[in-house]
Amino acid sequence: MEKPRAVIYLRVSDPSQVENNSLKTQSDTCKQYILSKGYELAREPFRDEGFSAKHTSTRPALQELFQYCTNKKNQISYVIVYRIDRFSRNTQEGLVAEAFLSKYGVELQSATEGISRDPTGTMLKTIFFSIAQWDNEMKGLRVGDNQKTMFNDGYWCWKPPIGYRRPYGMKSDRKGNACIIDDNLGPLVKILFEEGAKGIQTKQALANYINKLGFEKYHGKKADVNLVSKIVSKTFYYGLMYAPKWKKYQLGLHQPLISEDIWQKTNKNLFGRKANIMNDIKLFPLKGLIYCSTCGGRLTTSKARGNGGSYLYYECKSKKCAKNQRIMARDAHKTFLDILKTLKPKPTVLKLFEHLVFSDWDKLIEGCKKQIAMIDNRIDQLNNDLTGVTKSNDKGILTDDEAKERANKIRSEVVALKISKSDVVIEQYDTEIVRGFTENFLNNLDNLWNHIDLPKKQALQNKIFPNGLICENHTIRTNGLSQSFQYIEELNTQNSPLVTPRGIGPRLPG
Ligand SMILES: [Zn+2]
Repeated sequence: MEKPRAVIYLRVSDPSQVENNSLKTQSDTCKQYILSKGYELAREPFRDEGFSAKHTSTRPALQELFQYCTNKKNQISYVIVYRIDRFSRNTQEGLVAEAFLSKYGVELQSATEGISRDPTGTMLKTIFFSIAQWDNEMKGLRVGDNQKTMFNDGYWCWKPPIGYRRPYGMKSDRKGNACIIDDNLGPLVKILFEEGAKGIQTKQALANYINKLGFEKYHGKKADVNLVSKIVSKTFYYGLMYAPKWKKYQLGLHQPLISEDIWQKTNKNLFGRKANIMNDIKLFPLKGLIYCSTCGGRLTTSKARGNGGSYLYYECKSKKCAKNQRIMARDAHKTFLDILKTLKPKPTVLKLFEHLVFSDWDKLIEGCKKQIAMIDNRIDQLNNDLTGVTKSNDKGILTDDEAKERANKIRSEVVALKISKSDVVIEQYDTEIVRGFTENFLNNLDNLWNHIDLPKKQALQNKIFPNGLICENHTIRTNGLSQSFQYIEELNTQNSPLVTPRGIGPRLPG
């Protein structure tokens, strides 16, 4: 079978970055990624150096890339970027470009970020981006980079687990970068899991196996049973970060080394019980999110058997409140879905939300419409010219050859214009699709939460309820919403959506 073909797109926005090895780092990382995926590099990377990153149109190499990828002859399956924001700093434009490429069967992949490219993953990312953008807009400043915010945004804030490393470069350069897979240790950890999943070898045998493959040389210490246990228990390797400090899971932006399936199998084979703990977490998706109204502690989970069934509870750890501050998991989940339903924006509120969040998209669409009108005008003009040429030829002002030459020139310009017009139309169309995703998802948060897997569930929960939920009198309530959802809620409860809630001034596009 032929290898899928890939190209690399590199970009630095600041001319001073061209000087240091930033482009080389990007390039090397992307090449390793292509190698690890078994793709074939189709040609040398496309490079945009030191141009303004604000708008895609100022980047000649990007345009070249689009032309190259949309040409069927080149048979490109993947465009690899170092990070998605290398593609475009403007989120919407990035998504539009992604949608544009996908129309030609070309998929955009990031060499350093692990968010899955399945439709839900993409849509969820769209929502997160919109929310982040809106939060920023309302706060009038960038989100702070404190640990909790970073963690909630999918960044690992501590020492990378064995098999991962920080990207090279200055500390400031690395800020906001996800961990990347270490070239030497990453593959060994992957082998460890894959062998473990087969269920043939013991922990000791697995340790011996990776030692034989050179583990000590790269890690500085030999692998032993304890180290194998430590590695295998970490959900980080399949994309789910866990912060013991806050007892919180979060979908990470790093690229997973293995699938969840492999992780489960390995854990089941080596620990048996450990994998059951993971299943318990699945029974309690709100674990870590609910706090006790009496003592402020985090609720824990409990399973009780009785009357022929098992009863699942979220309850306060403290003996003093355990009886009062507990809620059946079933009820908690039902109430949680009801809360999500109340976050559904009213149609009028959605309009306002659109105005704020999608103002950039609106500008993009507006720009497209103007461009189309201009192209149409020019085509009309050229058609008139063509009639003029025929008339001049009839009157004998132009010879047949002269008329033919002029007509050909005009016709080729019309064809070129029609092609560029169809490009603009596609761009406008895709912009509307991306926008539709976000609207649809804002309107169906409860359905969404019900159907996504656990890491995505928890990511969504953290995004909407940064301070968690409160358990009181055997039910749960919210404990403050993230900025954007607060705004939606306030507007929903007001009679007129045009009244701006106190303290939050929407920044209308200037
Ligand atoms: Zn309590």
